[in-house]
Amino acid sequence: MRISEIKAIRKAKIPVENLFEGIKINEKTALGRAITLAESNNQNHRIAAQDLIERCLTIKSSSIRVGITGVPGVGKSTFIETLGKNLTVLGNKVAVLAVDPTSTKNKGSILGDKTRMQQLSLDPNAFIRPSPAGESLGGVAQKTKEAIIICEAAGYDIILVETVGVGQSEVAVHNMVDFFLVLKLSGAGDELQGIKRGILELADAVVINKADGNNITAANMAVKEFTRALHLNPAKENGWVTKVIACSAIENSGIQEIWTMITNYIKNNRESGYFDEHRNEQNKFWLIQTIENRLIENFYQDKAIQSELENQLKKVSQGRTSPFNAAEKLLNLAKKHTD
Ligand code: GDP
Repeated sequence: MRISEIKAIRKAKIPVENLFEGIKINEKTALGRAITLAESNNQNHRIAAQDLIERCLTIKSSSIRVGITGVPGVGKSTFIETLGKNLTVLGNKVAVLAVDPTSTKNKGSILGDKTRMQQLSLDPNAFIRPSPAGESLGGVAQKTKEAIIICEAAGYDIILVETVGVGQSEVAVHNMVDFFLVLKLSGAGDELQGIKRGILELADAVVINKADGNNITAANMAVKEFTRALHLNPAKENGWVTKVIACSAIENSGIQEIWTMITNYIKNNRESGYFDEHRNEQNKFWLIQTIENRLIENFYQDKAIQSELENQLKKVSQGRTSPFNAAEKLLNLAKKHTD
């Protein structure tokens, strides 16, 4: 570590060492504080957080990371609560994180609502953390990625990352997990018409939830329809063909089968080497992604660029310059600032 970095950490008065010790013995307050630190945009905090994350990475973990998505109301939190409880009973430690870039607007995040996952939140073997708020998707995703590393260092062996069914955040979550699960409902009419093909292509499994009561026949029909539709997709690069399973999160039926499917998938991928390869690919992706986010952020936060941008926008709208010329000017200005 550089001297300037050590100074920055001292200045921020963050006892990184203590936090790390707390994390290692899974002290939930230390864990919460560490994630808050990682979420901070304060420059000194970021340096301390990077130090902490580097330390966390030295702790070996054989965690499984699972992404869970679906439209609001599909049953994500009920599903996570039921699955989580099934897993903690077996002695697993489960961390639930969320990626919800919309939380900026409604001031609450998908896990922020206290009525969700009530039982799991009281479980000593579970840790639930809402989505970082006030961030762009890039920011949320990076911070969730860091939270995963911190939770793994605290011994959480199953990480569930929840996101809402809106395009880009699903892609981001897909890029940070080992298994990606899409929750769907049956009986909603033309499910297959409404399929966002892109997201289904990302799915390792499609789970038809609420397969209970009067809905069982419709759920089984939906399983058949989705299976038929998905078979038109080519197999994934590891040979996996997306599975379709029905479950009832409320009645805890089908959940065990889903978990067995996930663990079999992970076991096969570990044996074939795909598991590590895939995580490496994801790390490369996040490296590039982080650079791009940071460059964009720095660009738009620069005061001189902000005022020149306004000036250039005006010129473009008056037809006094072309958008390409304007962009060139602004980029040159940014380059001057970094030289
Ligand atoms: P989320 O918005 O995706 O997190 O969905 P919730 O978990 O909050 O569930 C939305 C509603 O669906 C709630 O009223 C749940 O009780 C209900 N629900 C969730 N899972 C099931 C299920 O398996 N069966 C039935 N019948 N209802 C469910």
